[in-house]
Amino acid sequence: MIKADNIAYEYNRRDSENNVIAIERAVDDVSFEVKTGEFIAIVGHNGSGKSTLAKQLNALLTPTEGTLWVNGLDTSDYSNVLKVRQTVGMVFQNPDNQIIANVVEEDVGFGPENLGVATNEIWDRVLSSLTTVDMINRRQDSPNNLSGGQKQRVAIAGVLAMKPKCIVLDEATAMLDPEGRREIIEAITELNRKEHITIILITHYMEEIVNCDRVFVMNKGKLVQEGTPGAIFNNADKLSKNGLELPVATRIAAKLRKKGLALPSGILTENELAKAIEELVINRKS
Ligand code: ADP
Ligand code: MG
Repeated sequence: MIKADNIAYEYNRRDSENNVIAIERAVDDVSFEVKTGEFIAIVGHNGSGKSTLAKQLNALLTPTEGTLWVNGLDTSDYSNVLKVRQTVGMVFQNPDNQIIANVVEEDVGFGPENLGVATNEIWDRVLSSLTTVDMINRRQDSPNNLSGGQKQRVAIAGVLAMKPKCIVLDEATAMLDPEGRREIIEAITELNRKEHITIILITHYMEEIVNCDRVFVMNKGKLVQEGTPGAIFNNADKLSKNGLELPVATRIAAKLRKKGLALPSGILTENELAKAIEELVINRKS
Protein backbone atom coordinates (compact mmCIF):
# COMPACT_ATOMS: atom_id res chain seq x y z
CA MET A 1 0.00 0.00 0.00
CA ILE A 2 2.75 2.44 0.99
CA LYS A 3 6.51 2.29 0.61
CA ALA A 4 8.80 5.08 1.79
CA ASP A 5 12.40 4.85 0.68
CA ASN A 6 14.66 7.24 2.63
CA ILE A 7 12.24 10.11 2.43
CA ALA A 8 13.02 13.51 3.88
CA TYR A 9 11.12 16.78 3.98
CA GLU A 10 12.74 20.16 4.51
CA TYR A 11 10.80 23.39 5.13
CA ASN A 12 12.36 26.71 4.29
CA ARG A 13 11.96 29.23 7.07
CA ARG A 14 11.66 32.72 5.58
CA ASP A 15 11.89 36.24 6.96
CA SER A 16 9.40 39.04 6.18
CA GLU A 17 11.21 39.71 2.88
CA ASN A 18 10.81 36.08 1.89
CA ASN A 19 14.53 35.30 2.19
CA VAL A 20 15.25 31.76 3.36
CA ILE A 21 16.80 32.15 6.82
CA ALA A 22 16.83 28.53 7.96
CA ILE A 23 16.06 25.04 6.78
CA GLU A 24 13.93 22.79 8.99
CA ARG A 25 14.40 19.08 8.34
CA ALA A 26 10.98 17.95 9.58
CA VAL A 27 11.20 14.39 8.21
CA ASP A 28 14.66 12.92 8.19
CA ASP A 29 15.54 9.78 6.20
CA VAL A 30 12.47 7.72 6.94
CA SER A 31 11.87 4.30 5.37
CA PHE A 32 8.94 1.97 5.96
CA GLU A 33 6.34 -0.18 4.29
CA VAL A 34 2.65 -0.51 5.05
CA LYS A 35 0.68 -3.48 3.75
CA THR A 36 -2.93 -3.29 2.55
CA GLY A 37 -5.31 -3.74 5.48
CA GLU A 38 -2.78 -2.90 8.19
CA PHE A 39 -3.66 -0.66 11.12
CA ILE A 40 -0.64 1.53 11.83
CA ALA A 41 -0.32 4.07 14.64
CA ILE A 42 2.20 6.89 14.52
CA VAL A 43 3.15 8.51 17.82
CA GLY A 44 5.70 11.12 18.76
CA HIS A 45 5.86 14.32 20.78
CA ASN A 46 4.97 17.73 19.29
CA GLY A 47 7.17 18.73 16.40
CA SER A 48 8.50 15.22 15.76
CA GLY A 49 7.36 15.34 12.12
CA LYS A 50 4.14 13.31 12.21
CA SER A 51 1.98 15.81 10.31
CA THR A 52 4.69 16.46 7.75
CA LEU A 53 4.88 12.72 7.13
CA ALA A 54 1.07 12.42 7.00
CA LYS A 55 0.76 15.20 4.41
CA GLN A 56 3.16 13.34 2.16
CA LEU A 57 0.96 10.25 2.24
CA ASN A 58 -1.68 11.94 0.11
CA ALA A 59 0.69 14.19 -1.82
CA LEU A 60 -0.22 17.44 -0.05
CA LEU A 61 3.57 17.57 0.27
CA THR A 62 6.08 15.59 -1.75
CA PRO A 63 9.41 14.40 -0.33
CA THR A 64 12.33 16.77 -0.85
CA GLU A 65 14.56 13.65 -0.85
CA GLY A 66 13.86 9.97 -1.37
CA THR A 67 10.83 8.30 -2.92
CA LEU A 68 7.34 7.61 -1.63
CA TRP A 69 5.03 5.16 -3.39
CA VAL A 70 1.32 4.92 -2.69
CA ASN A 71 -0.32 1.88 -4.23
CA GLY A 72 2.69 1.69 -6.55
CA LEU A 73 2.43 5.36 -7.60
CA ASP A 74 5.38 7.70 -7.06
CA THR A 75 3.83 10.69 -5.25
CA SER A 76 6.47 13.05 -6.70
CA ASP A 77 5.18 12.40 -10.21
CA TYR A 78 2.64 15.18 -10.72
CA SER A 79 0.48 13.04 -13.01
CA ASN A 80 -0.12 10.66 -10.07
CA VAL A 81 -1.38 13.26 -7.59
CA LEU A 82 -5.09 12.88 -8.29
CA LYS A 83 -4.92 9.07 -8.02
CA VAL A 84 -2.87 9.28 -4.83
CA ARG A 85 -5.47 11.61 -3.27
CA GLN A 86 -8.25 9.20 -4.25
CA THR A 87 -6.31 6.33 -2.70
CA VAL A 88 -5.43 8.00 0.60
CA GLY A 89 -8.06 10.06 2.43
CA MET A 90 -7.13 12.44 5.23
CA VAL A 91 -9.00 13.37 8.41
CA PHE A 92 -7.57 16.32 10.34
CA GLN A 93 -7.76 17.59 13.89
CA ASN A 94 -10.48 20.20 13.79
CA PRO A 95 -13.90 18.84 12.75
CA ASP A 96 -15.20 22.37 12.13
CA ASN A 97 -12.64 23.01 9.39
CA GLN A 98 -13.59 19.88 7.46
CA ILE A 99 -17.33 20.25 7.13
CA ILE A 100 -18.43 22.79 4.57
CA ALA A 101 -22.07 22.09 3.72
CA ASN A 102 -25.09 23.02 5.82
CA VAL A 103 -26.58 19.54 5.68
CA VAL A 104 -24.74 16.36 6.65
CA GLU A 105 -25.58 14.34 3.51
CA GLU A 106 -24.55 17.18 1.21
CA ASP A 107 -21.22 17.44 2.93
CA VAL A 108 -20.54 13.74 2.46
CA GLY A 109 -21.49 14.05 -1.21
CA PHE A 110 -18.94 16.81 -1.94
CA GLY A 111 -15.95 14.52 -2.35
CA PRO A 112 -17.43 12.10 -4.90
CA GLU A 113 -19.08 15.02 -6.71
CA ASN A 114 -15.67 16.65 -7.15
CA LEU A 115 -14.36 13.35 -8.48
CA GLY A 116 -17.05 13.44 -11.16
CA VAL A 117 -18.98 10.45 -9.86
CA ALA A 118 -22.48 10.02 -11.39
CA THR A 119 -25.35 11.45 -9.31
CA ASN A 120 -27.12 8.19 -8.42
CA GLU A 121 -23.79 6.60 -7.53
CA ILE A 122 -22.98 9.62 -5.28
CA TRP A 123 -26.27 9.03 -3.50
CA ASP A 124 -25.48 5.34 -2.89
CA ARG A 125 -22.06 6.24 -1.53
CA VAL A 126 -23.42 8.95 0.78
CA LEU A 127 -25.97 6.59 2.30
CA SER A 128 -23.58 3.69 2.73
CA SER A 129 -20.77 5.88 4.16
CA LEU A 130 -23.11 7.47 6.69
CA THR A 131 -24.41 4.02 7.63
CA THR A 132 -20.86 2.77 8.16
CA VAL A 133 -20.04 5.54 10.65
CA ASP A 134 -23.47 5.18 12.26
CA MET A 135 -24.64 8.68 11.28
CA ILE A 136 -27.37 7.72 8.79
CA ASN A 137 -30.18 8.96 11.04
CA ARG A 138 -28.60 12.41 11.17
CA ARG A 139 -28.23 12.76 7.40
CA GLN A 140 -30.63 15.69 7.10
CA ASP A 141 -29.25 17.47 10.14
CA SER A 142 -27.17 20.61 10.23
CA PRO A 143 -23.58 19.85 11.24
CA ASN A 144 -23.98 22.65 13.82
CA ASN A 145 -26.25 20.37 15.83
CA LEU A 146 -23.64 17.60 16.10
CA SER A 147 -21.08 16.86 18.80
CA GLY A 148 -17.37 16.91 17.97
CA GLY A 149 -17.27 13.12 17.71
CA GLN A 150 -20.30 13.09 15.41
CA LYS A 151 -18.74 15.77 13.19
CA GLN A 152 -15.54 13.76 12.90
CA ARG A 153 -17.61 10.70 11.94
CA VAL A 154 -19.25 12.79 9.21
CA ALA A 155 -15.76 13.88 8.08
CA ILE A 156 -14.75 10.20 7.95
CA ALA A 157 -17.92 9.43 5.95
CA GLY A 158 -16.92 12.20 3.52
CA VAL A 159 -13.57 10.50 3.03
CA LEU A 160 -15.20 7.05 2.73
CA ALA A 161 -17.53 8.31 0.00
CA MET A 162 -14.44 8.75 -2.17
CA LYS A 163 -13.68 5.03 -1.71
CA PRO A 164 -10.10 5.35 -0.47
CA LYS A 165 -7.96 2.27 0.13
CA CYS A 166 -6.27 4.01 3.04
CA ILE A 167 -7.33 6.62 5.60
CA VAL A 168 -4.85 8.78 7.50
CA LEU A 169 -6.15 10.43 10.68
CA ASP A 170 -3.88 13.20 11.92
CA GLU A 171 -4.76 13.76 15.61
CA ALA A 172 -8.40 13.47 14.58
CA THR A 173 -9.42 12.74 18.17
CA ALA A 174 -7.35 15.49 19.82
CA MET A 175 -10.20 17.98 20.15
CA LEU A 176 -12.80 15.45 21.26
CA ASP A 177 -14.05 14.42 24.70
CA PRO A 178 -13.44 10.79 25.81
CA GLU A 179 -16.81 9.69 24.41
CA GLY A 180 -16.10 11.29 21.02
CA ARG A 181 -12.63 9.74 20.96
CA ARG A 182 -14.08 6.31 21.67
CA GLU A 183 -16.63 6.74 18.84
CA ILE A 184 -13.89 7.54 16.34
CA ILE A 185 -11.58 4.71 17.39
CA GLU A 186 -14.51 2.27 17.18
CA ALA A 187 -15.53 3.56 13.75
CA ILE A 188 -12.04 3.26 12.26
CA THR A 189 -11.44 -0.13 13.88
CA GLU A 190 -14.63 -1.37 12.16
CA LEU A 191 -13.51 0.09 8.83
CA ASN A 192 -10.22 -1.70 9.19
CA ARG A 193 -11.68 -5.07 10.24
CA LYS A 194 -14.76 -5.19 8.02
CA GLU A 195 -13.79 -3.19 4.94
CA HIS A 196 -10.03 -3.91 5.15
CA ILE A 197 -9.26 -0.24 4.73
CA THR A 198 -5.66 0.52 5.65
CA ILE A 199 -5.59 2.88 8.65
CA ILE A 200 -2.82 5.22 9.69
CA LEU A 201 -3.70 6.77 13.03
CA ILE A 202 -1.61 9.63 14.34
CA THR A 203 -2.32 10.31 17.98
CA HIS A 204 -0.80 11.28 21.28
CA TYR A 205 -3.23 9.17 23.27
CA MET A 206 -1.40 5.91 23.98
CA GLU A 207 -4.72 4.28 24.92
CA GLU A 208 -5.84 4.57 21.30
CA ILE A 209 -3.05 2.50 19.83
CA VAL A 210 -3.22 -0.63 21.98
CA ASN A 211 -5.15 -2.59 19.34
CA CYS A 212 -3.25 -1.55 16.22
CA ASP A 213 -1.00 -3.91 14.26
CA ARG A 214 2.18 -1.83 14.41
CA VAL A 215 3.34 1.37 16.04
CA PHE A 216 5.81 3.83 14.52
CA VAL A 217 7.50 6.15 17.02
CA MET A 218 8.90 9.40 15.64
CA ASN A 219 11.42 11.74 17.22
CA LYS A 220 13.11 14.74 15.57
CA GLY A 221 11.88 13.70 12.15
CA LYS A 222 13.25 10.18 12.43
CA LEU A 223 11.42 6.89 12.71
CA VAL A 224 13.06 5.70 15.94
CA GLN A 225 10.97 2.68 17.02
CA GLU A 226 8.71 0.27 15.18
CA GLY A 227 6.84 -2.74 16.55
CA THR A 228 3.64 -4.16 18.01
CA PRO A 229 2.00 -2.13 20.79
CA GLY A 230 3.05 -4.82 23.29
CA ALA A 231 6.70 -4.63 22.23
CA ILE A 232 6.69 -0.82 22.20
CA PHE A 233 5.11 -0.59 25.65
CA ASN A 234 7.50 -3.21 27.01
CA ASN A 235 10.32 -0.74 26.55
CA ALA A 236 9.11 2.11 28.75
CA ASP A 237 12.62 3.58 29.09
CA LYS A 238 13.11 3.91 25.35
CA LEU A 239 9.61 5.34 24.99
CA SER A 240 10.27 7.97 27.62
CA LYS A 241 13.59 8.86 25.94
CA ASN A 242 11.46 9.63 22.91
CA GLY A 243 9.25 11.91 25.00
CA LEU A 244 6.31 9.52 25.38
CA GLU A 245 4.53 7.80 28.25
CA LEU A 246 2.95 4.39 28.72
CA PRO A 247 -0.87 4.14 28.66
CA VAL A 248 -2.50 5.24 31.94
CA ALA A 249 -3.65 1.69 32.83
CA THR A 250 -0.10 0.34 32.31
CA ARG A 251 1.33 3.04 34.58
CA ILE A 252 -1.25 2.41 37.31
CA ALA A 253 -0.60 -1.36 37.09
CA ALA A 254 3.14 -0.73 37.55
CA LYS A 255 2.49 1.43 40.62
CA LEU A 256 0.19 -1.17 42.16
CA ARG A 257 2.76 -3.89 41.46
CA LYS A 258 5.36 -1.83 43.34
CA LYS A 259 2.98 -1.73 46.29
CA GLY A 260 2.92 -5.54 46.28
CA LEU A 261 -0.16 -6.39 44.21
CA ALA A 262 0.53 -9.47 42.06
CA LEU A 263 -0.79 -8.02 38.80
CA PRO A 264 0.30 -9.68 35.53
CA SER A 265 2.49 -7.76 33.09
CA GLY A 266 1.25 -6.55 29.72
CA ILE A 267 -1.77 -4.57 30.96
CA LEU A 268 -2.57 -1.89 28.37
CA THR A 269 -6.24 -0.94 28.80
CA GLU A 270 -8.53 0.06 31.65
CA ASN A 271 -10.57 -3.09 30.98
CA GLU A 272 -7.53 -5.34 31.34
CA LEU A 273 -6.58 -3.55 34.56
CA ALA A 274 -10.09 -3.90 35.98
CA LYS A 275 -10.19 -7.62 35.10
CA ALA A 276 -6.77 -8.27 36.64
CA ILE A 277 -7.77 -6.55 39.89
CA GLU A 278 -11.08 -8.43 39.92
CA GLU A 279 -9.22 -11.74 39.58
CA LEU A 280 -6.90 -10.84 42.45
CA VAL A 281 -9.88 -10.09 44.67
CA ILE A 282 -11.66 -13.34 43.68
CA ASN A 283 -8.50 -15.42 44.29
CA ARG A 284 -8.03 -13.82 47.67
CA LYS A 285 -11.58 -14.71 48.71
CA SER A 286 -11.40 -18.34 47.61
P1 ADP B 1 4.12 17.02 14.55
O1 ADP B 1 2.92 16.82 13.70
O2 ADP B 1 4.75 15.75 15.01
O3 ADP B 1 3.83 17.93 15.72
P2 ADP B 1 5.12 18.63 12.35
O4 ADP B 1 5.27 17.75 11.16
O5 ADP B 1 3.94 19.52 12.41
O6 ADP B 1 5.25 17.74 13.67
O7 ADP B 1 6.43 19.54 12.46
C1 ADP B 1 7.74 19.03 12.36
C2 ADP B 1 8.73 20.18 12.35
O8 ADP B 1 8.55 20.95 11.18
C3 ADP B 1 8.57 21.14 13.52
O9 ADP B 1 9.84 21.53 13.97
C4 ADP B 1 7.82 22.30 12.92
O10 ADP B 1 8.18 23.51 13.57
C5 ADP B 1 8.31 22.31 11.49
N1 ADP B 1 7.28 22.81 10.58
C6 ADP B 1 6.03 22.33 10.41
N2 ADP B 1 5.35 23.02 9.49
C7 ADP B 1 6.20 24.00 9.05
C8 ADP B 1 6.10 25.04 8.08
N3 ADP B 1 4.98 25.21 7.36
N4 ADP B 1 7.19 25.84 7.90
C9 ADP B 1 8.32 25.66 8.61
N5 ADP B 1 8.48 24.69 9.52
C10 ADP B 1 7.44 23.86 9.75
MG1 MG C 1 0.91 17.33 13.95
